[in-house]
Amino acid sequence: MKLSIKYLLFFVLISILISPGFSQSIPEPKEILGFEVGADYHLADYHQAMEYFKILEKNSNRIKLFDEGKTSMGQTMTYAVISSSENISQLEKYKQISKELALVKGITSQEAQKLSQEGKAVVYIDGGLHASECAPTQHNIQLAYNLVTTDDPKYLRILNDIILLLVFPNPDGMNLLAEWYRPHVGTPYEVSPMPRLYHKYAGHDNNRDSYMANLRETQNITRIVNQIWYPVLLYNHHQTAPFPARIWIPPHSEPTNPNVHPLIVRWQNMIGSAMGAAFDSQGKEGAISRIIYDTWYPGYVPQVVDSHNVISVLTETALYRYATPHFYTVHDFPEQYKDLTMSAFYPSPWKGGWWRIKDAIDYCLTASVAVLDVASRYKDRLLYNKYKMGYDIIERFKKEPPYAWIIPQQQKDPGTASLLLNRMMLLGIDVYKTTESFSCDGIFYPSGTYLIPMTQPFALFVKNVFEIQEYPDMRKYPDLWQGLINPKKFEGAPYKSYDMTGWTLPFQCGVEVHSANTPIQPSMESVPKVHFQKGEIKGKPGYGYILPHDENASFIAMNRILKTEGQVFWTKSSFSSGGKTYPPGTIVIPSQKINRSLIEKLSQELDLIIIGINRRPQVQTLPIKSPRTGMYKSWDPTPPEGWTRWIFEKFEFPYTILHDADIKAGKLNQNYDVIIIPDTYESEIVLHGHEKGTMPPKYTGGITLEGLRNLREFAQKGGTLIFFNRACNLATDYFNIPVRNVIKGAKREEFMCSGAILRMNFDNQHPIAYGMPKEAGSVFAESCAFEILPSFEKNKKPQSVATYPEDDLLMSGWIHGSSIIQQKNSILEVPYGKGKIILLGFPVQYRAQPYLTFKLLFNSMLYPNSKN
Ligand SMILES: [Zn+2]
Repeated sequence: MKLSIKYLLFFVLISILISPGFSQSIPEPKEILGFEVGADYHLADYHQAMEYFKILEKNSNRIKLFDEGKTSMGQTMTYAVISSSENISQLEKYKQISKELALVKGITSQEAQKLSQEGKAVVYIDGGLHASECAPTQHNIQLAYNLVTTDDPKYLRILNDIILLLVFPNPDGMNLLAEWYRPHVGTPYEVSPMPRLYHKYAGHDNNRDSYMANLRETQNITRIVNQIWYPVLLYNHHQTAPFPARIWIPPHSEPTNPNVHPLIVRWQNMIGSAMGAAFDSQGKEGAISRIIYDTWYPGYVPQVVDSHNVISVLTETALYRYATPHFYTVHDFPEQYKDLTMSAFYPSPWKGGWWRIKDAIDYCLTASVAVLDVASRYKDRLLYNKYKMGYDIIERFKKEPPYAWIIPQQQKDPGTASLLLNRMMLLGIDVYKTTESFSCDGIFYPSGTYLIPMTQPFALFVKNVFEIQEYPDMRKYPDLWQGLINPKKFEGAPYKSYDMTGWTLPFQCGVEVHSANTPIQPSMESVPKVHFQKGEIKGKPGYGYILPHDENASFIAMNRILKTEGQVFWTKSSFSSGGKTYPPGTIVIPSQKINRSLIEKLSQELDLIIIGINRRPQVQTLPIKSPRTGMYKSWDPTPPEGWTRWIFEKFEFPYTILHDADIKAGKLNQNYDVIIIPDTYESEIVLHGHEKGTMPPKYTGGITLEGLRNLREFAQKGGTLIFFNRACNLATDYFNIPVRNVIKGAKREEFMCSGAILRMNFDNQHPIAYGMPKEAGSVFAESCAFEILPSFEKNKKPQSVATYPEDDLLMSGWIHGSSIIQQKNSILEVPYGKGKIILLGFPVQYRAQPYLTFKLLFNSMLYPNSKN
């Protein structure tokens, strides 16, 4: 068909008028930010980014903004949806298609094929999860501008095929980082590390929360992914490339998590190759694959979605520091990279030169566009594969175990069981309640039992977090190809896993879960919310009320009662009341000083069954008071400190943060009953802190020997010092206690366990372990195993609260050299003058995930004051 010039001009004019790409009113980012995106020494913060995105939304019909919840610091989390204006006007339709394909239910293969042609590829891209890796956030701004204003046919084709969700996953961190960096530009501290976490609670661990979803940001992201949009692809940008590579791109390293459909891995590799080709066609050297980053651990933002049939993409672009440029020569490179050897997974070695934030942003842009290009070119197939993966998984578990997960009604901590299942639902899992009784594998379950059938599309996610992890012993595969450059050495010493090797959530939470190894089909109904126990008050409170020690909610109740000046006691031994026997540690609340309405409120709000008793239990009790708690916070902050704050706030424990200067000032007993030294990368960091000259003076130097003296004095005068995990080494090295950590300094060949669930025995007659089972799985992550040394002073003998058993230590994950820690202690209470030192030798509050062992921390804090 021939068109006359006149018609052609008319069409051009019309397209100019309707295309937002030609709108004169869309300002470039620099007009709003005051600097070019990627200018040296300049970072846009979240407020600026949002200001700019709102202008884009106002002036273009290719972008629409949506709010999804709040951040930990109370900001609104806003994300952009970018596509062709035509698609933007039909978002609900495409959302629905995405959902139907993802959930599979009742859709035939032919219908899925039709929907795949009709639908659009929803692609999630985020920037700035780790806020100090700052190029990705700035890339978001540039990518939005480029896509909204483009008239390039390639981009228009992409916009027609895809719907991009552009997300800032850590808005608070983006602001904190900019606020720290800006005033230091041009000073000696321009590239100093930020002396606080770049997420209110989690810092770097905001990429370890994905399967537990404790953080608001994780909850917002999981709603976007698992409940609203069901994307085919999720791309999570980072900026820690293995030096001197300029970007790390898939394929991943080993081991590979087995609970993903093989198509996920195939597409990851394919997308990595597409990215690599894009880099080398643009002359961007230094893209590397295969080494370091594996897909074993599912706590990461990208890896959690792999078992939700979303193809995750991770990249790690190179970073010097913040927006400061740096010049490198080959002499700066590690030895094995100096000869610039070309290899299959590093075909264009980087030769050195300047590296600026602009370069990093350009690499991020190339990678993002490559992902969008693949999504566009293979749109129909990606959408159909999403359906196919869900379909295959449903079919698989019709024929093989586990057929379902059964969560029995009787749980030691019903509140935590409810929490775990409600989190599963948030993460896109359907939970049901049976409406009839049934038997499975020889066990009878009454009607009303909770059940998670595996015949659902994201079933591999439940399997991944509920089952026991069997981490492969990588030494068995010495020939496993890891790339010519920097291969992992498997022979001899085992290599350290990138993150945890085992995480089984029912163990961590102390929730009983059974896998169904024979097919079951009881009638059942879906539930909007899980509720194992409804709160109520039973019996007559002639004397008072009793609360169970094994339920986490009891600690919130105790804190609220103590706040109102009510009394709280723990029984020191078991006792009987109303024909029932209660264990040591049972919580007794005399009704005399407590308002009945508070008790009613507690039982309803916390779903606690509170039992009224007529007579005072005829056993010895410990009077409990609200401790004045101080927690040390280093200027080289670690996520464990932040997670502990998160837990304190959730469980309503008041606390004060102590910095180096506060510890050095001394007279700690005047203000505190308990001082906590949280886990740290190295105990010496507490002592020495940042080196002088590397940070503004306020942030250097640690607590020093003077602070150490004050801590000793604090315990000697009656205070309680609690050390977590690796920080226990500070106590064993500097407090002259008869305790030795037998694995401190152990060689890799001798002992290695960087993250697993180990069996532990608890003395639950000891107040620190009240409410704990006698035996339970606990997180071990570069933890301690204590030996009690002979001591002349009998009254100084440490008391063991928890030990590693004689054999069969490993419950989930991997350990090497377990015999070294067998029968050693994991928790000790060490008398110290008038006070005590409590060594919690493993992370009882790890990433706020082991809900079962939180009470070891709570008890450690509450119990000491009972003497005062
Ligand atoms: Zn990162």
